[in-house]
Formats: sequence, structure tokens, C-alpha cells
Amino acid sequence: MRIKLEIESNDTKIVGLKESGSSLSIDRNWGYAFATLILCMAIALPQVSEWVESQQPIRLLQRLVKNTNKLTDSKSTAFPTTKGSPITSGFGWRIHPLTGERKFHSGIDFGAPKGTPIYAFEAGLVEFAGWKGGYGKAVIINHGAGKSTLYGHASKLSVRKGERVVAGQTIGKIGSTGFSTGPHLHFEVRLNNKPVNPRPYLQQRELKSNYSPRMEAFLATIRWAETGTSRTKSYQKLVFNGTLNSFSTHPLIKQCASINGKKTCSTAAGAYQMLDKSWWDLQPKLNLPDFSPASQDRMAIEYIRRNGAISDIESGNFAKAACKVGKIWASFPCNSYDQNPKNISELSRYYRKQLSRRVVR
Ligand SMILES: [Zn+2]
Repeated sequence: MRIKLEIESNDTKIVGLKESGSSLSIDRNWGYAFATLILCMAIALPQVSEWVESQQPIRLLQRLVKNTNKLTDSKSTAFPTTKGSPITSGFGWRIHPLTGERKFHSGIDFGAPKGTPIYAFEAGLVEFAGWKGGYGKAVIINHGAGKSTLYGHASKLSVRKGERVVAGQTIGKIGSTGFSTGPHLHFEVRLNNKPVNPRPYLQQRELKSNYSPRMEAFLATIRWAETGTSRTKSYQKLVFNGTLNSFSTHPLIKQCASINGKKTCSTAAGAYQMLDKSWWDLQPKLNLPDFSPASQDRMAIEYIRRNGAISDIESGNFAKAACKVGKIWASFPCNSYDQNPKNISELSRYYRKQLSRRVVR
């Protein structure tokens, strides 16, 4: 059961406890019960008495009033999951890197570990919560005026149809249910039930924690060259076969295979095929909490920086940047690893396609 607290004006009257449309007032009786409990505890325990005298409870109440007001402001919006989660697929037409199939992608995908919270983008009414075909476990929130948002592939839902939600409220957890290749949030904005590009609706300041369109397109190109796909699935790749199921740390698994007749062993994992030694080096330096897509992106950018290619990427000099990072990624040119690198025109074509999808139009 969910309990929603609303505090009205300055008079600290607490109302709420709404479930499935029914409304129950807790009002002053609960306030008195709570205050009596605190007083009894203050008499029995000197620590509590000190706390009450410090006026902290009053400040706590004031903060609560402020936060609640902010959340219920109908104009406010929230990022639909952890800020800075990488966009693993944008809105629009895309061509599958392996099958060549043309398909319309009706939302934005954010890559994040399973269990990451999904937040309501804006206040509204839960119109749907349950299994929805290829979307897997999904929620649709109606915000009024013909606008709704959809959240797909969840591992867990924490709202029900008919429930009112506020912006930023947790409505479920990220997963990989339905037609999905790895844990991510599929986020859709719909106007009169027709999906539109969600990018303009997301706060620019919150998208800033992602990278520039050129850097994102460059990262996508590395993922594609290294793993065959730039999508969410790439973040789970192990070097020769299999996938990693937890992003809590680098998998540290060594696999061996024959490349061009030569036996090669490697611990490479994830979208940028990072070795265990890269993990031991960068994890403490970048203070990485895990091996999630966001952390993997940061590791890749650190190697790009170390090879002096950031300014080439940001100024649009793709070929120069690609050559500079060839020492790091065997699938890129300008190295002697002899592991079937892609040529510069193939890479550049893929990069341009990625870039065109990432520019807001
Ligand atoms: Zn999607």
C-alpha cells in the first residue's frame, strides 16, 4: 500500500492516504498522536528530549511542507530515471546494425542497471499499469490536455491503475521485460496517443549530464565497432560469448578464442570491451560505484582523454579522433592488433547516422 502525504498551507494539517481514487483524511488526530508519541519519548529518553529542544522537528516539518509543495506543483517535471543515465537509443527511424532492418523507435532508451528507480515525469493519473506486449511491464500516466507518458520494460511496478502520482514519484524499477535485450527504461511522450520526440520535454539542464551529441555519437560508434550493436545490449557483452547479468562490478572473466589462427585470451567486457586491468586502474581514479552503462561511458571517455582525442571529437574531426583511439580499440584503424578492424569510411558512416539522430530538430 502506498501512503501519500499532503500538507496544506501553514496550518500543518495532514491529509492524504489515497489509494485507487478513494480518499481518507488522517488530519489532526494523527498529528496529535504523533506529537504525544514524541513527547512520551522525550520524557523517557534524554536524546529525544535534546532533539526536540534543538527545534529540529520544526525544521523537518518546514522542509516537508516545502518539498511537498514543489512536488505537487503541476508545472514541475522530473527526469524519468537516474539523471545522467546514458541514452542508448534515441527517437526516430533506426537501422539495425546487423539485420539492416528499418524500424521506428517511438521513445528514448536510458541504459541503467536493473532495479534503478523509474520516476513519474509529471503529475497525473495512472491510466495503465501492467503487462503491455513488447513493452513488458509498463506504466502509462495521463497528464491531461492530451499528453501522456509511457515507461516500458520495468522489472517491477509500484503504482496501480487509477492512482494519482506526483512528479518525481517512484512508479517502478528498471528491468528488461518484454521485447528488450538488456535492462533499460523506454520512455515515451504521447500527444493524443501519438508518440513524439521526448527530448524537448526533458529539462535541458538534466540532459546536460549526458555528453554532447558528437561525443555520444562517437561513443555509440565505438560500441558498435566493438560489439556489433550500440544499443543497451552492448553494455552486457563479454568478449567472445555470453553476457554479464550484473553491473555491480567488472565481471573479471577470462575467455579464450582463436582470432585469425592465433589463440587470444582476454577479460574484455561491456560496451567498450574494458579489460580487468582498466577496471583496477580507473575504478578508484574515477570513483566508479559500479560497472553500469554510465560508468562504462566514463571509462571510455577517460581513455579518449588520455589519447588527446576529446577536442578532435568536439570539433567534428572524426577521422583524426578515430585514429588516435586506435591504440585502445582494436576494431578501430591505426593499430597493428590484426583483429579485423573496421575501415574509416564504415566507421564514419555509422558515426554520421548516429549524430543525425542525436541533434534536436
Ligand atoms: Zn526503446
